[in-house]
Amino acid sequence: MKIRLDKYLADMGKGTRSEVKKAISKGLVRVNNVIVKKPETKLDTDSDHVLFDGVLVGYAQHEYYMLNKPAGVISATEDKREKTVIDLIIERKRKDLFPVGRLDRDTEGLLLISNDGELAHRLLSPSKHVDKVYYAKIDGEVTIEDVEAFQQGVDIGEEKLTRPAKLRVLKSGTQSEIELTICEGKFHQVKRMFQAVGKEVVYLKRLQMGTLILDESLKPGEYRELTEQEIADLC
Ligand code: URA
Repeated sequence: MKIRLDKYLADMGKGTRSEVKKAISKGLVRVNNVIVKKPETKLDTDSDHVLFDGVLVGYAQHEYYMLNKPAGVISATEDKREKTVIDLIIERKRKDLFPVGRLDRDTEGLLLISNDGELAHRLLSPSKHVDKVYYAKIDGEVTIEDVEAFQQGVDIGEEKLTRPAKLRVLKSGTQSEIELTICEGKFHQVKRMFQAVGKEVVYLKRLQMGTLILDESLKPGEYRELTEQEIADLC
């Protein structure tokens, strides 16, 4: 891909467009070992070699990170007061990353962070019915009637009942543990589905979204880049 030098550097988080223009005019940028002072210089993102203040800057059109979202962090790109999921991706290069979908502040688990808008659309569009798998702890005993109700669809106050969802009871008791697969992504959907059968979710963690499975070696707050295979499987 061919892009302007100032855009290349700004995309890679080296400053705003005007900040990188200043750095370029000061002679801080070398392309293929030659100082370049024109910000409009066209670069080939695949083959040109860019040094910014002596440090190599590779170009990434898209970035894909898997975050194990911790509780207490909001699924937003920026916030004046609160820590966001993007703030956790310390080694990010791109400044246009966003969370692909949202998890509630108190929900943990799998969150894809990317700047790939097309992929986000494919994963989030209601018409695509991408499966999401959650693990939850529920206050109260989850029964076979609940499993059947979720299979039929429950009333969460929307126009229609929820689409068929697969509820698996992992442990039943005064506090139950379950795994739930849903193919919709309505606001607070899992919590509202349990409310609809008179129960409360006390802990919620997302395990899977489409083909992407949470890497359990990531502790809450940790992240890693997706592998080539994980990206290919999603796309
Ligand atoms: N459903 C919820 O209720 N909360 C989430 O964070 C995700 C799904």
